[in-house]
Amino acid sequence: MDDKLSFYNTLTRKIEQFIPNEDGKVSMYTCGPTVYHYAHIGNLRCYIMEDLLEKTLRYIGYDVKRVMNITDVGHLSSDADTGEDKMLKGAKREHKTVMEIAKYYTDAFFNDCAKLNIKIPEIVEPATNCIPEFIHMIEELLNKGYAYESGGNIYFDTAKLSEYHVFSSQNEKEMLVGARDDVEEDVNKKSKSDFVLWFTKSKFDAQELKWDSPWGLGYPGWHIECSCISIKHLGENIDIHCGGVDNIFPHHTNEIAQSEAYLGHPWCYYWFHVHHLNDKSGKISKSKGDFLTVQLLESKGYDPLVYRLFCLQSHYRKPLEFSYDVLDNMSAAYDKLVKKIGTLDKSGEVQQDKFEKYKRRFEIAVCDDLNSAMAITVLYNMLKADISDATKYALAEDFDKVLSLNLTTAHAAKEAENGIEAELEQYILAKIDERSAAKKAKDFAKADAIRAELLEKGIVLEDTREGVKWKKA
Ligand code: AMP
Ligand code: ZN
Repeated sequence: MDDKLSFYNTLTRKIEQFIPNEDGKVSMYTCGPTVYHYAHIGNLRCYIMEDLLEKTLRYIGYDVKRVMNITDVGHLSSDADTGEDKMLKGAKREHKTVMEIAKYYTDAFFNDCAKLNIKIPEIVEPATNCIPEFIHMIEELLNKGYAYESGGNIYFDTAKLSEYHVFSSQNEKEMLVGARDDVEEDVNKKSKSDFVLWFTKSKFDAQELKWDSPWGLGYPGWHIECSCISIKHLGENIDIHCGGVDNIFPHHTNEIAQSEAYLGHPWCYYWFHVHHLNDKSGKISKSKGDFLTVQLLESKGYDPLVYRLFCLQSHYRKPLEFSYDVLDNMSAAYDKLVKKIGTLDKSGEVQQDKFEKYKRRFEIAVCDDLNSAMAITVLYNMLKADISDATKYALAEDFDKVLSLNLTTAHAAKEAENGIEAELEQYILAKIDERSAAKKAKDFAKADAIRAELLEKGIVLEDTREGVKWKKA
């Protein structure tokens, strides 16, 4: 395998050829969801594009080991260590325990991933599984002089680093403005940019989950979990670390600070960041009532893979604006595309030379800073080309290892679903006729039994002036 993939490395601020630390192997870490609510489709854009990166690496022959955390403690309502714990907020909102909330929304996240064909990393670790590891790392940071105790909390001492703002040339003041949300002064900190590693004193003392530690009963800060979980499973160096652009500061900046202070050497070589999905009013958030989720899209009749196509049609480094109009166009394009592929005659010969030619074009597109839109153009061009149906089908199947749009199976699945729907309708209409006949014969018990039988199957009958109508319950 030659090193043919290039993508934008936030650390060096340029598009770089990817060269892993160990030949043929890639270690990859992904910041997982904070499981206090459903993921919105903006969060899922991030995971779709990270999935694209992982699948591209696999496509070109790398063996990828990928780890993701689940944030079930420590992420406060502001990324700058202030505000209430998001998990606790979620638990209060739903009158449940924090662990119940975490379980429910972790499952919901995996469900969304399955619907969007996002591969779940082989190692997924909830933060609450790793408290002893966090404590060990914080102890080491204290021993090495990179952390201090103040007002009951343990802080990372950013002044001990030769460079803290590794991702940007912006000065500290500007970065703190970028820290967003309700940035409050913490009088315990020696410097504004210091951050909490372990809390024992918080304004929000109702914190449900607390653990014993050498510094008293408390809970970890958010940033420590990703450093620790990454080092636990991937060792002292990682090739790629991923997340949304909002994670660059302070989360990833702080991860680098504490990981490198702990390890005593550079830690991660490539930082991959996905830009945000916005709606017309700005950044998509979970606080705006009926926020955009996969379930919402499904309830409006959209196939979740149409949203995946929508994301793949735009570049991961550009902000993307969501609109139902564009999604409608995508939906029509998706149906046409999978119909075209699903009706190809795959029985003939695969023309090997043509297969290689288009495979190469596809590979060049995805390896060019993950240009998924160009890769889809290659797919369309290939489908129009003068090559055998069997070659087209084999290529679509091959490209789908990266695109994951169910290119070869979606049409048959849709047809089968339509077939089932048609069969169901026939059955219901026959039952309605049977019920009408029973009513005419004044056999009301039988008529009621038919209505009850349909209701049990989720079908509601309505007697109207125009006749009997039915709907799904
Ligand atoms: P969270 O569950 O808040 O920890 O976020 C999960 C992931 O989604 C993180 O990598 C965030 O950077 C990313 N993210 C948050 N908001 C958006 C958005 N509007 N568009 C794309 N990614 C986002
Ligand atoms: Zn993280």
